[in-house]
Amino acid sequence: MDPYEEKRRRMVERLREELNISDKVARAMMKVPRHLFVPKNYEREAYVDTPLPIGFGQTISAPHMVAIMCELLDLKEGEKVLEVGGGSGYHCAVVAEIVGKKGKVIAIERIPELAERARQVLKLLGYDNVKIVVGDGTKGYPEDAPYDKIYVTASAPDVPKPLLDQLKPGGRMVIPIGRYEQYLYIVDKDEKGNVRKRIWGPVRFVLLVGEYGFKD
Ligand code: SAM
Repeated sequence: MDPYEEKRRRMVERLREELNISDKVARAMMKVPRHLFVPKNYEREAYVDTPLPIGFGQTISAPHMVAIMCELLDLKEGEKVLEVGGGSGYHCAVVAEIVGKKGKVIAIERIPELAERARQVLKLLGYDNVKIVVGDGTKGYPEDAPYDKIYVTASAPDVPKPLLDQLKPGGRMVIPIGRYEQYLYIVDKDEKGNVRKRIWGPVRFVLLVGEYGFKD
């Protein structure tokens, strides 16, 4: 019996009312126990719609941001998805629920301790369609490229070229851009490889640090 089920249900209902999220995103968020992805002392706040500290100066994104990014990505069953900024592993668990057993999520995280913690929780919950990699996600992960969808959960100076190269024609990327003033962008690559970038709206993320990111 999950003692947080009722709180999780209320959180998802609020997200549905406020954001009009789709059934598939709501269902995925109802399945993933966010309280297991936050440090023990924040467990009771896990179903408040806010980012929470996960150590090393990083945060687990707010549930509404996870929901919005999943909607913007227009995720489908069976897709192969790259996440840059795996953090706690929560967001990639939600995506893993949506793409299902035939899909795959590869999450890159630059802080090894966070990656290890995420790996343990995801294993405990039985997510075998998820792979957590330690490294600089601004360079993408060519080993499993190309990807149907890519999303970045830390704010970049611009769209990193390797990520664009590793996106399939017809694919989509969702990425926050900016240091002090940040906007979430939707980046579409058409079948001919032409790229179209448009703004969704203002957001607040930690910075993406790396070769094609900020320099710390
Ligand atoms: N999606 C995460 C979750 O569900 O917990 C939240 C991620 S947090 C907002 C952003 C993460 O991006 C941090 O864990 C940070 O260490 C990571 N990060 C920053 N720069 C990175 C890079 N170049 N490569 C991989 N991860 C990076």
